[in-house]
Amino acid sequence: MNIVWFKKDLRTTDHAPLTEAVKLGNVVCVYVFEPEQLEADDFAPIHLSFLRESLESLDASLRRLGSRLNVLFGELPNVFQELHKQSRIESIHAHEETGNWLSYQRDRRVRRWCKESGIAFHERPSNGVVRRLDSRDAWASKWNKHVNQSIMAEPESIPSVQAPWDANAGWRDLDQWLNHNPRWAVKLTWPGRKNQTGGIANGWDYLESFLHRRGMNYRTDMSSPLLAETGCSRISPYLAFGCLSIREAYQQAEVRSKSLRDDQTLDAKDRADWGRSLSSFKSRLAWHCHFIQKLEDEPQIEFRNVNRAYDGLRESEFNESYFDAWCKGETGYPMIDACMRSLHQTGWINFRMRAMLASFAAYHLWLHWERPSKFLATQFLDYEPGIHYSQFQMQSGVTGINTIRIYSPQKQLLDQDPEGLFVKRYLPELVEVPQKHLAQPHLMTTMEQMLFSCRIGLDYPAPIVDHKAAYNAAKERIHSHKNAPQVREVSAQVYQKHGSRSSTRERR
Ligand SMILES: Cc1cc2nc3c(=O)[nH]c(=O)nc-3n(C[C@H](O)[C@H](O)[C@H](O)COP(=O)(O)OP(=O)(O)OC[C@H]3O[C@@H](n4cnc5c(N)ncnc54)[C@H](O)[C@@H]3O)c2cc1C
Repeated sequence: MNIVWFKKDLRTTDHAPLTEAVKLGNVVCVYVFEPEQLEADDFAPIHLSFLRESLESLDASLRRLGSRLNVLFGELPNVFQELHKQSRIESIHAHEETGNWLSYQRDRRVRRWCKESGIAFHERPSNGVVRRLDSRDAWASKWNKHVNQSIMAEPESIPSVQAPWDANAGWRDLDQWLNHNPRWAVKLTWPGRKNQTGGIANGWDYLESFLHRRGMNYRTDMSSPLLAETGCSRISPYLAFGCLSIREAYQQAEVRSKSLRDDQTLDAKDRADWGRSLSSFKSRLAWHCHFIQKLEDEPQIEFRNVNRAYDGLRESEFNESYFDAWCKGETGYPMIDACMRSLHQTGWINFRMRAMLASFAAYHLWLHWERPSKFLATQFLDYEPGIHYSQFQMQSGVTGINTIRIYSPQKQLLDQDPEGLFVKRYLPELVEVPQKHLAQPHLMTTMEQMLFSCRIGLDYPAPIVDHKAAYNAAKERIHSHKNAPQVREVSAQVYQKHGSRSSTRERR
């Protein structure tokens, strides 16, 4: 039998491993729940719910094509070894995964086992990420070539063999595993959560509605946590779980860009707005792969500074109570707390607010990025290790090749939520506080606190750090470090390895 091993590519279109295996015949489609991944510190119940829905959707697509999904449970390559004993495996077909450190090690084990067992293991590139890239110089043209190649159509049918095991065994083993992890069972049924639902059709619905209805003001809406909710595409979890491919999203956006000229429902201004928004959207699809490429080229950036000259900058002074307040959304900074609490409920927040959360942890609280990044990995439904750790390091100022940006939570509130609608939605204790006090409620007089039912220190916390003092101290420390000659030398090497050749900002 020829196995198609689904991982973070839960779709049937634009799927090279499936297309290639179908040509060989006797195909068995497999997904494996791996306990070490379920127990990892970056995996959370929200991911499992989305994964479950996406696997059900994939199974339905495979059944339409005459096959089905075999769901198994266990570590790899042991599971494959068991299957091989029951029925000889000729070949395994999968996408290259640029995932966390565990998946990196697991893929090495599988590769080794296949070699020792005489099984052909065919891995195909994932999206526009290049394995064994020799230089960053030509990366952008490689990416352009990838996204413009024809999309692989779904196979007309899948010549399947009946596998000699129970195709649902993995679901039962997963339930058993969950029973032994009651913490999970509670979180899986947590009321009040409003996460997106997984699956191929849902991914396409988000993409289509963005490209045809929601996306016209994308460039302006993307910064506000309120407007971005509908103004951004929201396709990120579907890309992260592979319900959609980058090429599919890119080519749909191209089709829409070309059709704008003939769209009689649009006036000149709307057409120009759509044009600019679609172009920004397509750039971000390239960023998606650009950031994942960094992790592909250096898997250790999940846990160590991409620029080793920054080692030791923050490691020795981690303040647990600051970290705890940040995780809970109880820092006394309304914009930080509202963003964090909205994340707890929805699993998503826009880019600017993610950057602000990471920057606040790194600069105002002077926390090393590793634990904050793991915490947010469990909160982001779209957690994508390559983007996540690269962005976290960038927003913490430890790459040496990016502009230092320290966000002011008060300014972000005034700029991005001037009426306080977002903040009041997620911080009920501030509902009666007038807009002029929202950015700094701790400055209200005792009388005002009583009047607006918000006693600082009782109903809502006082700021855990003083903005001005923390901001100035962090600015001084990070800039003096960045400008040291030995740091600049390593930064030049980091740029050679990871820097975007098209972004002037990163080059600077
Ligand atoms: C600290 C931090 C951590 C992040 N962690 C993740 C993560 O784990 N997973 C993730 O998908 N994105 C991450 N991002 C990037 C970005 O915030 C999200 O991709 C975006 O908010 C997802 O919403 P959307 O699909 O509506 O994006 P849109 O704005 O509609 O963009 C479309 C797609 O382009 C890609 N994209 C957009 N912005 C970026 C960016 N700045 N960098 C790389 N790719 C981008 C994403 O795949 C996104 O789905 C992170 C950003 C920061 C600052």
